[in-house]
Amino acid sequence: MEWCVSMPKVELHAHLNGSVRDSTLLELARVLGKKGIIAFSDVENVIMKSDRTLHEVFKLFDLIHILTTDHSTVTRITKEVIEDFASENVVYLELRTTPKRNDSIGMSKRSYMEAVMEGLKAVSSVDVDYAPAGLKTNTFNGTTRKKLYVRFLLSIDRRESTEAAMETVKLALEMRDSGVVGIDLSGNPIVGNWTTFLPALKYAREQGLCVTLHCGEVPNQEEIKAMLDFLPQRIGHACCFEEENWRKLKSLKIPVEICLTSNIRTETISSIDIHHFAELYKAKHPLVLCTDDSGVFSTSLSGEYHLASSAFGLGKTEMFQLAETAICFIFADDGVKEELRAIFEVAAGKLK
Ligand code: 5GP
Repeated sequence: MEWCVSMPKVELHAHLNGSVRDSTLLELARVLGKKGIIAFSDVENVIMKSDRTLHEVFKLFDLIHILTTDHSTVTRITKEVIEDFASENVVYLELRTTPKRNDSIGMSKRSYMEAVMEGLKAVSSVDVDYAPAGLKTNTFNGTTRKKLYVRFLLSIDRRESTEAAMETVKLALEMRDSGVVGIDLSGNPIVGNWTTFLPALKYAREQGLCVTLHCGEVPNQEEIKAMLDFLPQRIGHACCFEEENWRKLKSLKIPVEICLTSNIRTETISSIDIHHFAELYKAKHPLVLCTDDSGVFSTSLSGEYHLASSAFGLGKTEMFQLAETAICFIFADDGVKEELRAIFEVAAGKLK
């Protein structure tokens, strides 16, 4: 496991509110419990439960959002989540989150994202590069420290309207200088119809944002086909593909964000031995290992590398190559790709 921690890694599929530490959630629940807003014991039971179906996971997210969605907490969890990824040698992190509006506390999608940015700027354990061409970095007085590149994807939740999705895309465009590089479509896959979001997704693409879609978490072949025809730059999960869509995915070579623990815990895939990682890896299909929700599923990116290595019999060198190849699929610019390649080159020397 140690080498999985020490090697540099690229995380491309991590939801902010799914990556919150259990200890932070419990602390927040205790405070709201004392105020009588929630029943602490109910929350404790839900948070500490280790296996959840996909349906239960979305119920948990509703609970997490009650605990986290105020400006100062959003700032706190962003800082903690980035520091947690940095502590296990993630060198490039694409963190995704759904900008939320809550009129009762004066929160707009923009002010939510401003709170996220504040959290990023508060990170103190590493230097964070978060904007195009090194425009902004929270470097500490010329000291040479570890550097983490962070970029953001703004998520559209499948419960939202076309207008709300469009507002998210416009916000993403306005925040490009703050490191927003793309749009994600996520949320409960059995809710809504993805065509509701097509105008916003098309607009995002026209304006030069990258798009990744949660695709094939449930066996809806028609939706999967239409999503692939949209030609997103990446897709997440790809669990419930039938033969025809499988062939289409492979011929289009759309990179897949693989979330092993998440798929097993939510029973989207019944067992690791039949996970599609193995077939895609063998076919040299573009792949990247990711955590999805490291807090909710009690995992880490090093843990995902360790799991893939042991479940599919891959050694240190193969796992290192897998991590390095992920650089090709990041949404940040070529300058960042070059700098990441240099980081991996140095690490490869140490590996020998
Ligand atoms: P947030 O966007 O609030 O920072 O992160 C939590 C949200 O991400 C959830 O409410 C949900 O919309 C989305 N999400 C997290 N994990 C998953 C997943 O495994 N599948 C899908 N479809 N959406 C997810």
